[in-house]
Amino acid sequence: MTFIKTENLSFKYKEGEPEVIKNISLEIEKGSYTSVLGHNGSGKSTLAKLICGILQPTSGSVSVGGYMTNSERDIYKIRESCGMVFQNPDNQIVASVVEEDVAFAPENLGVEPSKIRKIVDDCLKTVGMEEYALHSTYKLSGGQKQRVAIAGVLAMSPSCIIFDEATAMLDPTGRKDITTAMKKLNKEKGITVITITHYMNEAIEADRVIVLNKGEVFLDGTPEEIFSQVEKLKSVSLSVPQVTELLYLLDSDGYDFPKGVLHTMQAADVIEKKAAGLKKGVSGT
Ligand code: ADP
Repeated sequence: MTFIKTENLSFKYKEGEPEVIKNISLEIEKGSYTSVLGHNGSGKSTLAKLICGILQPTSGSVSVGGYMTNSERDIYKIRESCGMVFQNPDNQIVASVVEEDVAFAPENLGVEPSKIRKIVDDCLKTVGMEEYALHSTYKLSGGQKQRVAIAGVLAMSPSCIIFDEATAMLDPTGRKDITTAMKKLNKEKGITVITITHYMNEAIEADRVIVLNKGEVFLDGTPEEIFSQVEKLKSVSLSVPQVTELLYLLDSDGYDFPKGVLHTMQAADVIEKKAAGLKKGVSGT
């Protein structure tokens, strides 16, 4: 079932300036996990803000769960159902104690205090931060803060969360924790996840990858389909996961390796099979 639909969506920040989103028509399924890639300035953040109704289309339309972002009556429904997690967790954390921060949204939505306790506990557990409920938010690491920020968004029971470069400021461990949390939200809670990222290892976890270039959809497919197009990605200044690049280079050197291998273990398997073949060849001569 389609959850997000953009129809001939175009957007420019100012009259007289060029469009930064150009005639995009996309459908995103409910419960899916999509990664949006693109070089700096390709329009990723603008698209995310158009989906959440933070920005309004210059032309065309966006609907989320059947509600239109350009309808004043619908916009509150969209803001309730579609949360965003941004790059800098410090800009999203509002309270000095972890559990107070997570309780902020339900308190403001007027949820009964007896229910808030359970919401806070559940949300902290989902992001693996339950042991930090009474900790000061400012003493946490970047990755822990970002997990608290995610719990804060979760406390609003969104159907969809857009992560806008949410791992960009984190170290590799923090990045891995957030990617794990995104996967869990999608697979266990059925939340529609859209992640805007520069990290290919984050993108390969998605079911679908959309590549933007100069405000247009350049590629759209499964991670395997997208990352097997190494030359095309390079033409828009994007790289591929390291193991994909390695096998691509070996294949280009005539070793005949499959395209679109994304995971290290999968690559190890493919290389082992090839090496076993070579070994037999050597012993047979
Ligand atoms: P990305 O997220 O892919 O880096 P953005 O959506 O942030 O791309 O930006 C797309 C284009 O819109 C860029 O050319 C950028 O300079 C421009 N842009 C982004 N935000 C604004 C703004 N607030 N006002 C004017 N132009 C903007």
